[in-house]
Amino acid sequence: MLESLIRFWKTPSFQMKCACGVTNQFQKVLSGKHKKKIEGERPKKFKFWIVKCEACGLNQTYPRPYESSASSIYYQEKKDVESRVNDIDSIRTYAKAILERIKQFKTEGRFIDLGASIGVLVHEAQKSGFQNATGVELNAYAIQKAKELLNVDLLKGDMLDQAFQDDSIDIFTLSQTLEHIENPIQVLKTLHRRLKKGGILYLDVPNFESVMADVLKEKWGLLDPCRHLWQFTPASLKWMLSQSGFEKNHFILTENNNYTYELEHASESQRLFLQEKLQIGTQTHRGDVLICIAQKA
Ligand SMILES: [Zn+2]
Repeated sequence: MLESLIRFWKTPSFQMKCACGVTNQFQKVLSGKHKKKIEGERPKKFKFWIVKCEACGLNQTYPRPYESSASSIYYQEKKDVESRVNDIDSIRTYAKAILERIKQFKTEGRFIDLGASIGVLVHEAQKSGFQNATGVELNAYAIQKAKELLNVDLLKGDMLDQAFQDDSIDIFTLSQTLEHIENPIQVLKTLHRRLKKGGILYLDVPNFESVMADVLKEKWGLLDPCRHLWQFTPASLKWMLSQSGFEKNHFILTENNNYTYELEHASESQRLFLQEKLQIGTQTHRGDVLICIAQKA
């Protein structure tokens, strides 16, 4: 109990650091309250801020939801895995859309999904020609489910722990994962090194500059301040990739059609309003999810 309180109520005296290395040069962008239920504990509300680094423009959540993604109790929770199992059909649809994008660049090769969860993307990749596709996952229960449901073997651990050789991988995927990672630049640099020349990194993250983020502000579902350390914009994501060695990158912005939480929980009139905003997001390339394919030159 005490540990989780400390985790969620870190005082502002804690020195803040940006992924770019700068400390304590931030401006407040927005604030709000979020309700969080930890397994075995009563739900509690906590106040959070989104702050922007004055040096590089990257937005982050404060207080930090947890100290380190690898050791966090949060990532050992079963509840989230169960909800993914229940939602497997829509995850599969999303995985197929990811593979369609990847196949514009590569149709074979060594394929590694990072933050593979219950292994749906790995399974779909194996079926569509990437026979040796595999994934890396922290949560032991998710790995167990991948084996039980899909007969997919995932590697356990942090993506930086894996003994992949440099210049050995054709495709890395990082879907809805980078926003959870404490040290994103270090991870992207490592992935860049381990890709073959011409290899690609597919990644998607919530778009903090989406129309929905703008309209809903602190209530935007993809803000998820309990879990998301970083809030990316097209500019900050591009900057981070360039810092990590990716010179030539392709950028696609799109709406995440599977993200319907806000619509499902809205009143009738609000739903129409939000649907219209989602549509504007798609038309103006300010959809809820930033999708990027970066290639190693
Ligand atoms: Zn910064």
